[in-house]
Amino acid sequence: MNSNNLCHHLKAIHQNILTAENQFGRSPNSVTLLVVSKTQTSESIRTLWTCGQTAFGENYLQEALPKMIALQDTQIVWHFIGPIQHNKTRKIAEHFSWVHTVDKASIAQRLNDQRPAHLPPLNICIQINISQENTKSGIFSQTEIMHLIQIIQQLPRLKLRGFMIIPEYTADIAKQRQIFSTLRNLRDHINNTLDTLSMGMSNDYIAAIAEGATIVRLGTALFGARMINTQHQ
Ligand SMILES: *Cc1c(COP(=O)(O)O)cnc(C)c1O
Repeated sequence: MNSNNLCHHLKAIHQNILTAENQFGRSPNSVTLLVVSKTQTSESIRTLWTCGQTAFGENYLQEALPKMIALQDTQIVWHFIGPIQHNKTRKIAEHFSWVHTVDKASIAQRLNDQRPAHLPPLNICIQINISQENTKSGIFSQTEIMHLIQIIQQLPRLKLRGFMIIPEYTADIAKQRQIFSTLRNLRDHINNTLDTLSMGMSNDYIAAIAEGATIVRLGTALFGARMINTQHQ
């Protein structure tokens, strides 16, 4: 896609978000667009940065690091949104501003210990597995969630912001809204001071905005369908 097109798509998505905020009684600009740039080049990311996009999400550390180096002259805010292995926490703590996929105390502890002193605390979302699919990461039991919240809140180099979810795919908008409202209710019930609900991807972000998303994570809506990335198979 040429750079003009990318910026046009970005504008169109912003318009969709604004329309949804308006339609569902959300304040204007209460939803942050996180552009998911996995499999995209640093040139495409730079184009979007130049036309005003600041937040980018990456799933794989090895893929993200070279792009981050190529873009270190920008003030891009990087979000880590992929599964986290213990041996990757140091680089994640050093290079990202946000991590959306924390679901274990041991990972939280390592991110805290490895967060460089000159950087502000790392923003954290706990990944919740609403549909309780065995194959997906995330926790669901309230006891587990409350325990992890307590641990993270005691770690000075982490700042707990809220919850993140990757629901199972459905085209049924009522079902999408039901899942997102479950996450919002969980937040309201467990700790309503948490300000972040990271929920909504290209196929369901309007439903997510309707139910209180504060960060929507969009890839294909902006870039078109991803090429299959054999590197990660
Ligand atoms: C890939 C990915 C997205 C973006 O998905 P699209 O359907 O392309 O918008 C969002 N969140 C996570 C965690 C992802 O891995």
